[in-house]
Amino acid sequence: MAELIRGKDIKKKIEEELKVEVEELKAKGVTPGLRVILVGDDPASHVYVRNKGKACERLGIVEDTIELPADAPEEKVLELIEEFNNDPAVHGILVQLPLPKHMNETKILYAIDPMKDVDGFHPVNVGRLMIGDPDFLPCTPAGIQQMLIRSGNDPAGKHVVIVGRSNIVGKPIMNILMQKKEGANATVTICHTGTDDVAKYTKKADIIIAATGWPGTITGDMVKEGVVVIDVGVNRIDDDTREKGYRLVGDVAFDEVEPKAKAISPVPGGVGPMTITMLMKNTVRAAKRTIE
Ligand code: NAP
Repeated sequence: MAELIRGKDIKKKIEEELKVEVEELKAKGVTPGLRVILVGDDPASHVYVRNKGKACERLGIVEDTIELPADAPEEKVLELIEEFNNDPAVHGILVQLPLPKHMNETKILYAIDPMKDVDGFHPVNVGRLMIGDPDFLPCTPAGIQQMLIRSGNDPAGKHVVIVGRSNIVGKPIMNILMQKKEGANATVTICHTGTDDVAKYTKKADIIIAATGWPGTITGDMVKEGVVVIDVGVNRIDDDTREKGYRLVGDVAFDEVEPKAKAISPVPGGVGPMTITMLMKNTVRAAKRTIE
């Protein structure tokens, strides 16, 4: 049986560490502050933002969510960002994606002060990560790295195959793991839809990170014995046996891959819970910097 790499357990440990850091900051007169801008009524976005609020509450971070209607003008979002950029009580700013179609997502994300960009999506932070001098690590990839390290599967010296090259998962986790740094220093291969034969690469992988958004992208015949697998995917599939009529699965065919794996992250309960925790970590880091 493969060991399960449970993000929800690792998250609890990191939260304990963060609580101590927040207390120390408060003793020095700094309370970490996060502002979230949420535009429109996307139900999934509302759930994420609610969970972010709960995490802040658990840790003693001051959080405020500004909700705008779906037809709000882009200028309103830019105005709010400007206000938060200039507010010393605000250490982290997050604009919940996706934004309504009439808004220019790039323009909005670029308006955030890179020093308050706790999502790590600003090009300054993307560039700093690339050259090995990161400030904020993007949350999901940072969570994946923590899952590997804290489960005793240090990527150093290993061959990591990432399947998926998005700007929010595939590319940043590649950038994190290839750096000559502790908890990284891996040999990284990245696959995508242009890859001739994904299995040719995954079969050689010590660690596979699957982030495609398609259930069953990684099947049992595509992996070697003893592989470590991080399944980033979150996909809804119909399931009449569930009250909601669906269940969540990852991008990995768990039942086929688990028997061959040394360790594997489940879905749900794997990567998912780590993302918000790393957002909290970035917010605390941003606050800390104000007194360093
Ligand atoms: P995305 O932007 O749609 O990117 C998917 C990537 O996978 C693309 O690079 C695509 O290649 C590649 N791809 C798709 N099918 C493939 C296949 N059969 N073989 C090889 N490569 C393939 O997705 P994303 O935003 O990175 O998200 C990926 C998954 O992770 C989704 O299920 C998402 O819900 C989940 N996710 C979870 C969290 C979390 O907190 N747990 C956070 C973010 C994302 P091309 O570039 O060639 O199109």
